[in-house]
Amino acid sequence: MRLSALTLLREAFSPERTPVWRTPEPKPAYRVIIVGGGGHGLATAYYLAKEFGVTDVAVVEKGWLGSGNVGRNTTIIRSNYLLDGNIPFYEHSMKLWEGLEQDFNYNAMVSQRGVLNLCHSDAQRDAYARRGNAMRLHGVDAELLDADGVRAMAPFLNFDDARFPIKGGLLQKRGGTARHDAVAWGYARGADLRGVDLIQNAEVTGFLREGGRIAGVQTTRGAIRAGRTGVAVAGNTSRVMAMAGFDRLPIESHVLQAFVSEGLKPIIPGVITYGAGHFYISQSDKGGLVFGGDIDGYASYAQRGGLPVLEDVVEAGMALMPMIGRAKLLRSWGGIMDMSMDGSPIIDRTPAEGLYLNAGWCYGGFKATPASGWHFAHLIAKDAPHPVAAAYRLDRFRTGRTIDEKGMGPWPNLH
Ligand SMILES: Cc1cc2nc3c(=O)[nH]c(=O)nc-3n(C[C@H](O)[C@H](O)[C@H](O)COP(=O)(O)OP(=O)(O)OC[C@H]3O[C@@H](n4cnc5c(N)ncnc54)[C@H](O)[C@@H]3O)c2cc1C
Repeated sequence: MRLSALTLLREAFSPERTPVWRTPEPKPAYRVIIVGGGGHGLATAYYLAKEFGVTDVAVVEKGWLGSGNVGRNTTIIRSNYLLDGNIPFYEHSMKLWEGLEQDFNYNAMVSQRGVLNLCHSDAQRDAYARRGNAMRLHGVDAELLDADGVRAMAPFLNFDDARFPIKGGLLQKRGGTARHDAVAWGYARGADLRGVDLIQNAEVTGFLREGGRIAGVQTTRGAIRAGRTGVAVAGNTSRVMAMAGFDRLPIESHVLQAFVSEGLKPIIPGVITYGAGHFYISQSDKGGLVFGGDIDGYASYAQRGGLPVLEDVVEAGMALMPMIGRAKLLRSWGGIMDMSMDGSPIIDRTPAEGLYLNAGWCYGGFKATPASGWHFAHLIAKDAPHPVAAAYRLDRFRTGRTIDEKGMGPWPNLH
């Protein structure tokens, strides 16, 4: 059903809800199986069907669609990257975000309210000027603000007695937020409408092999054969790939937490990030202040974090905008991040024929969802990467051609 004002009205008054997608039984075989019904898996299935004409596809999800990080993130979207390998990819994602809701005919509340990165030293301002120039050379919007420019946008920040005074900021006006779970639902609905089978409550427990090649998956709902199998399971990448024989991937799983306050009147104009600590904040349409900071710092598969990081994040918040101390914290939660060794993702074939990998998104994969799906679909459909995502190779950790956006070296817990 195509959604319009009329169909919404009809649905609102109808005694029965039309399901947003079907609940099919798994078929014995598909042309393509995508493991993982998160944002990236669903987007891949959607673009496989829509852009590359591959509709004989199943998405196999161990829980319910969107139960992973796609529904747990702080919803920030942006393309303010520095390095050549990253800027064109994230800008492609931003362009897809800009047309997404019309494209999949679903309200994902994409809101380009701006992303402002604050700087607190001359050196940091120089680094932002460099990043802004790199962005503009690639045709991406970037504006360097001085302290007065920041004050005009966010007068509530601590300008007067801060330990790390605000010197200015790098603003990307086209950045902003999107409603995370609606993104998953929109892609799921769009894929389902094009014939993709969305199979929930089916955990992949092993891979089917034919000689050296991967020929499908073993799941808790039976074996399903496939010509090509794509893995997009984010924080569970090491676990799932170990079943295919890859027990040493350049990935560590870490917990990242997020926090939301009680609903408040509109105060935060867009997304603001603190440059002297790790803290980022925006305000949801319901009024909650949505914020987060660093990963917990130890490897874990638990979808919950500890109190030391809560304290650290809240301290950074208090240093940046002391008024936050008056707000009540409503909820916190955690998700498992697939932290790669250079902080950049992997979209590549694997050495096992028929098996493709999409991983290493660290805590920046939500903004990448549209481009990640598009490029993973391209790779699977054509068995060749698109030039825009060609740098995200798995073997870059062996050859040394890493994409170290943050300049942190090979320490996943620092990216
Ligand atoms: C607290 C938090 C804040 C974040 N903030 C941001 C942000 O502001 N901006 C941003 O860009 N990114 C952010 N991220 C990161 C972003 O959410 C992730 O990088 C991205 O969602 C990962 O891709 P995904 O959506 O496909 O993952 P997921 O939604 O985790 O999808 C993976 C799916 O695979 C399934 N799966 C796992 N194992 C199996 C199996 N054996 N069989 C079948 N299915 C399986 C899981 O159940 C899951 O549904 C944040 C993450 C968290 C946790």
